[in-house]
Amino acid sequence: MAHEHATDVRGIMTGETAQDRRANERKLNFWERTYLVEIFKGMVNTFKMIFRPSTTIDYVGANSTPEQRHIPAVGYRGEHYLKVDDGGNIKCVACFMCSTACPAECIIIEGEPTTIEDFGAQRFKKPQSFEIDMLKCIYCGMCVEACPKDAIAMTTTYNQVGVKRGDFIFDMARLVKNNDEFMGSLNLSRSGKDANGSYPLSPGGCGPDVTHGVTDFRKGVRQDGA
Ligand code: SF4
Ligand code: SF4
Repeated sequence: MAHEHATDVRGIMTGETAQDRRANERKLNFWERTYLVEIFKGMVNTFKMIFRPSTTIDYVGANSTPEQRHIPAVGYRGEHYLKVDDGGNIKCVACFMCSTACPAECIIIEGEPTTIEDFGAQRFKKPQSFEIDMLKCIYCGMCVEACPKDAIAMTTTYNQVGVKRGDFIFDMARLVKNNDEFMGSLNLSRSGKDANGSYPLSPGGCGPDVTHGVTDFRKGVRQDGA
C-alpha cells in the first residue's frame, strides 16, 4: 500500500520504527475503551460552564454595547441600493454599464422604454427588472464606479442572513427598500437630501438625476433613432 512507502519522518527523527511504536503503545483498559469516563468528565465540565458568565458577544443583539458592534468604516462596501430622485423615480436608466463592468457577472437588468410623461423630461429607458445575485457578488464596487447616473451605490449593511438561495437575489424592490432604509438611518430623505438641501452621499454633485431632475432638459424632444 502507498502509505507503507511513505517517508517515516518521526522514525527518522527518533530512530524508532513504526513496529516499535505499535509495540510500545499503551493498551487502553476496559473503561477507557468504553469512553464513558471521558464522556462523564466532559459533561461535568460543560455543566460547570453553564453557570459562568458568557464570554461571547451578543453580536448585533439588543444587549450588545456600542463597543461590541462592528462599525463599518466610511466607504465600506455592503449591500447595494438603487437611488431615487426627488420625485421618487428610480434614477437608473438601464444603460447596462454596471452589469458590463461587473467582474462577477451577477447583475441582470431588463430595460424598457419610458414615455416623456413618465418623468416630466426626456428619458429613454428605465429598468423593468434589476437583479443582483449577492451570492456571486464580490463587493468590489465596480458597478458603482461604472454608473454614469449615480443610480447605484452600496450601503454599510454587512450582516446578510437568509434561509434559501433566493433570499440573496436582490430585485428592484429590495434594492429600493435598501435605499429607503439606508437613507432613513442617516436621517436623509429618500433621495439622499439633507436638511440643507444638499446630497452628502453624492459629493460629485450628481445627487438629483440630471436627466429627469431638470424639467426643461430636452423636454419633449426625442432624439433621432431613439
Ligand atoms: S460589487 Fe462588484 S461583483 Fe458585486 S455587483 Fe457590483 S460590480 Fe458586481
Ligand atoms: S445602475 Fe447605473 S450603470 Fe447600472 S444600468 Fe442603471 S444607470 Fe446604468
